[in-house]
Amino acid sequence: MATVRELLDAAVARLRASGSDTARLDAELLLAHALDVDRTGVIANWSAPVGEGAAARFRELLERRAAGEPVAYIRGVKEFRGLAFGVDERALIPRPETEKLVELAELEVVRRLISAPRPPGTPRLRVIDVGTGSGAIAVTLAVLLNRRRMLDEVALSAADISEDALQLAKENAVGHAIADRLEFLVADLLPGDGQWDVVLANLPYVRTDAIPNLPKAASFEPVRALDGGPDGLQVIARLLDRLPTAVANGGAALLEIGGDQEHAFRDLAAARLRGWELEIERDLGGLPRVAILRHQ
Ligand code: GLN
Repeated sequence: MATVRELLDAAVARLRASGSDTARLDAELLLAHALDVDRTGVIANWSAPVGEGAAARFRELLERRAAGEPVAYIRGVKEFRGLAFGVDERALIPRPETEKLVELAELEVVRRLISAPRPPGTPRLRVIDVGTGSGAIAVTLAVLLNRRRMLDEVALSAADISEDALQLAKENAVGHAIADRLEFLVADLLPGDGQWDVVLANLPYVRTDAIPNLPKAASFEPVRALDGGPDGLQVIARLLDRLPTAVANGGAALLEIGGDQEHAFRDLAAARLRGWELEIERDLGGLPRVAILRHQ
């Protein structure tokens, strides 16, 4: 029987040859998945023998990865902000840079809830995640606010144009025990003519001509979740056009943008949202990532 180390070393070589630049991490995660243990269980047991059944399962997973399928789809799960999200081809895999948007969204909501007295009967703060996909933003925000005992004061909605994506978001909400605290809406961007205090969105923003240059794994994701049109900002621009009526006075919108889109986004916002304030926050990689627009 081969040992953990032998299987991993062979797998790393296989994945490197197939072009993965995270070959060791991929191999460790996939072996852990085949063995039904966590990654530490693999790393801490180098010399343990692996049974034939698990080794065969591992080889199958490895071939899928070597063919380009993202590890997150193979495992069916992706960690986001310390929470496990079910993921599959119905939606984009949550990215680490989007954790910045969630961090800023939590701050924004908490600041609004504590900055003024809220006597009983005060309407709940209206927050919507537009293009929720797997639900990573809305579900994580709900979990974080629930931990702070603040979720009762927030009416949180998650919208997506894809019913399949919305179904996945619901499954993730169920998985984190907050499904009854979220409203799910099928909508092209914002539903109807409602008004919100805080609008959150990670919309598609990749330029159409840049899509073929994304890592192979992205070709397994729904292109509709990535394709932002010729300049990458078409979908975001459509949302900006809706904001003057959709965001309540004093409200805000927090939008994820591409790391190279700061200037183009500033121009777009200046042209479409006169009198709004704009700040752009950087992600952990130091790239401009979250645009915060405030409606005065
Ligand atoms: N950051 C993602 C990528 O580069 C794009 C996500 C998006 O379009 N919202 O693959």
